[in-house]
Amino acid sequence: MKDVVIVGGGLAGLSAAWRLRDWDIALLEADETRIGGRVHSESRGPYVLNWGGHMYAGSGSSTEQLVHETGSHSMTIPGSLQAMAMNGKFLSTGPIQTYPFRIPMKQRDRLAILRSGAKLSLDVFRYAAAVRTRKGELPEQRQQRVFDFENGRTFAEYMGRIPKAAKDFYFPVVMRSTADPDQIAAGAGIGYFSLIWNIGEGLGNAIVGGASTLTEGIAQTISDSIELGAAADEVVQHADHVVVRYTKGGTAHELKARTVVMATPAPITHRVAVDLPEDLRDALSKIEYGPHVAGAFLTNEEGPMPYDSAYGIATPNRSFTVALNHGNLVHGKTSVRRPGGSMMTFSPASLGRRLFDKPEEEIIDIHLKDLDEIFPGFKRIVTEAHIEKFEFGSPFCFPGRSRLQPTLTQPTDRVFLAGDFLGTLYTETAISSGFTAAQRARSALTAESDASYA
Ligand SMILES: Cc1cc2nc3c(=O)[nH]c(=O)nc-3n(C[C@H](O)[C@H](O)[C@H](O)COP(=O)(O)OP(=O)(O)OC[C@H]3O[C@@H](n4cnc5c(N)ncnc54)[C@H](O)[C@@H]3O)c2cc1C
Repeated sequence: MKDVVIVGGGLAGLSAAWRLRDWDIALLEADETRIGGRVHSESRGPYVLNWGGHMYAGSGSSTEQLVHETGSHSMTIPGSLQAMAMNGKFLSTGPIQTYPFRIPMKQRDRLAILRSGAKLSLDVFRYAAAVRTRKGELPEQRQQRVFDFENGRTFAEYMGRIPKAAKDFYFPVVMRSTADPDQIAAGAGIGYFSLIWNIGEGLGNAIVGGASTLTEGIAQTISDSIELGAAADEVVQHADHVVVRYTKGGTAHELKARTVVMATPAPITHRVAVDLPEDLRDALSKIEYGPHVAGAFLTNEEGPMPYDSAYGIATPNRSFTVALNHGNLVHGKTSVRRPGGSMMTFSPASLGRRLFDKPEEEIIDIHLKDLDEIFPGFKRIVTEAHIEKFEFGSPFCFPGRSRLQPTLTQPTDRVFLAGDFLGTLYTETAISSGFTAAQRARSALTAESDASYA
């Protein structure tokens, strides 16, 4: 019998496995070829192609702890997160408040954008004040406040009736959540602006060498415990153990464990962990995800590009909501501009749904057409392009989500939950929930060992 079976080899499952590496563990990962889940990067010389989570939490976070403990490294992301390409104009410098004056548009659209911007700015500061960490409080108390902030209506309702130009200007930012503005809660939408405008605590770091160096580094340490291509079908609790049934290579298998960490997306946890408390299963069934269709493009330019000073480029009215200049992670550190680069694009929410069933080549063409219109000549410098699709791109905070939080985080007996759906900070939530699940498993194991000696 194993001490712990961990189901799911994304950042949450690997973080739990890392903290439990001295116990007798097994980690089951459904994917047949790779570990990491929604973290996926590949190196190309000094550059990194990236399809999944790319911005990470820094100082004081669980991410920082994991990076430190595993001997990985992170760096502050160089370049602006606030660049924008709209109506034929690309802007990457100057205060964002000046953008409406510098992007070609009608005067009345400009005024509408400024009016909405004034309201949003006030609420971003209100959000930052509400969610700031308070002395002596527990992380879960702060997390509940983040969920509670403006959780009674959608972002579209909060913004009210605004002209198309204002929607174009503001909505792509919140769609990065994978929700459309009429799905995501107002507070979560406001939180996205706080993140992008870099107010308060956020995700401003990158993993040196690419995000997968973190997940693959952990996987190497525990390689004997990992089974790839092992898809859990059912997890059933008994008085003193848990049975995990899974399929590998078309054959049914079974493992017994004293405890289990379920680190799969909520709909899978709901399907597989069949005898969790009813209220918890009900809460799991209510978690909502939107899709991500992500593109990565390796380029071979010889000299500087117009986007060199930017990392995040909002792209209204395009097939993707944002382009991410991963090349900047290299160029931002060197005084002489090296040849080449790497660009990531992603199409979340309704944009992702529109592309999801199309073949890879067609999606590449669609993304490249837009990139080439924004940065003329871009197509000619691309040497490699790949698309990855994520059905469960990210969980998003919808109106009413806040009420589920106490149920989702309630103590359980032998099956402990981890995953980004347990909070609002994506990779940081995945890691911190993995740590918490590992701690709960360790406590249960230690308590039983102590009892058997007594
Ligand atoms: C395009 C994109 C961009 C993103 N950008 C950012 C960003 O910049 N910053 C950020 O913080 N976050 C970002 N995210 C979100 C971030 O990647 C996730 O929050 C995080 O990686 C989730 O980790 P997880 O372990 O909770 O889930 P996952 O990574 O989904 O891991 C779950 C694992 O379980 C496996 N699994 C599923 N079913 C089974 C089964 N039955 N049996 C066994 N295994 C199973 C899956 O294959 C997967 O490996 C992004 C996500 C995407 C898709």
